[in-house]
Amino acid sequence: MGRAVSAINYGFDVNSEESFWSPAIRGLVPYVPGEQPRIADLVKLNTNENPYPPSPRVVQAIATAAQHGLQLYPDPQATAAREAVAAYHGIAAEQVFAGNGSDEVLAHAFFAFFRHGRPLLMPDVTYSFYVVYCGLYGIAFEAVPLDAQMQIRVADYARADPLEVGGVVIANPNAPTGCALPLAAIEQLLQSQPRRVVLVDEAYVDFGGDSAIGLIARYPNLLVVQTLSKARSLAGLRVGFAVGQRHLIEALERVKDSFNSYPLDRLALAGAVAAYQDRDHFEQTRAAVMHSREGLTLALEDLGFEVLPSSANFILVHHPGRDAAQLAQALRERGILVRHFKLPRVAQHLRISIGTPQQCDALVRALGELLAP
Ligand code: PMP
Repeated sequence: MGRAVSAINYGFDVNSEESFWSPAIRGLVPYVPGEQPRIADLVKLNTNENPYPPSPRVVQAIATAAQHGLQLYPDPQATAAREAVAAYHGIAAEQVFAGNGSDEVLAHAFFAFFRHGRPLLMPDVTYSFYVVYCGLYGIAFEAVPLDAQMQIRVADYARADPLEVGGVVIANPNAPTGCALPLAAIEQLLQSQPRRVVLVDEAYVDFGGDSAIGLIARYPNLLVVQTLSKARSLAGLRVGFAVGQRHLIEALERVKDSFNSYPLDRLALAGAVAAYQDRDHFEQTRAAVMHSREGLTLALEDLGFEVLPSSANFILVHHPGRDAAQLAQALRERGILVRHFKLPRVAQHLRISIGTPQQCDALVRALGELLAP
């Protein structure tokens, strides 16, 4: 049977699975997330998760939600979660868009705002998903180099004709550097792009950055994206949101309602609301992470590492005497995962998520042994 079918000339190789693909798929270069191994007892410092569990009130709210109404679709507008975010930030729920993790919110924003045929500007070293969305949606982009100290220089994003630009996306604090820009620099960026959206990805802002949310009332071109995955310990729940003036939120809603009516399920909605209600838990855990970051920075500097000053829940480090990929592999063999990117400018760096004090100690001990003469 099979032989008879393949004898027909279909004009493509029927034995190739790729023959079923839309042409656009061939050129896609997908994002590769950090490893999520199934091995227990690993010291997992590779994906910038929070080392502390979420608030017990979140777990309780999810358990309660699981007992009531899972046979029903969730609220397509995610109203309760948007209201919780709005109340926390002192804005209106109409200024908040919610999605299935900030990755989804970012994807919708790229589709909604950056397909101008002009290049989207972004730092040459930043969250590598941005380039992937450009590939997915056919968005041209221009990588603007960080300066020699790995800092974003906002003046480099200004163009004589602002319409030459398709938009700007930056992470603040940036990833994987951890470096933060002050709000004055964000304002300079916003003023240099009066006709285009400036997307500020604040995934890590609660670990020491300044949020630009307070600027949205004055800047119709500002979209701020945040997540519950980091400072609120809910990477497993998949909740992210965007904040901006109503016309930007409406554009995101149009994309979402052309894609998936229910990106937030009932458990995620319940958990997200509870996460914003437990302010003490949020304050305590983020303070603990920031405290450990300072301790780990000093300990690694003692071991000869150069550590970029970080406002995030990770640090980017470089050891002048050791190959970064080899160090990452040697740590892995000792049950410690850190992230190494085979990318220009950071190929000799390691990005290390801040763990519990015990996890940080284990890392320092292992590195001490590996670096011993
Ligand atoms: N932005 C940045 C800069 C990130 O590092 C991450 C996490 N990988 C995200 C957005 C996405 O986070 P999430 O989808 O979990 O909200």
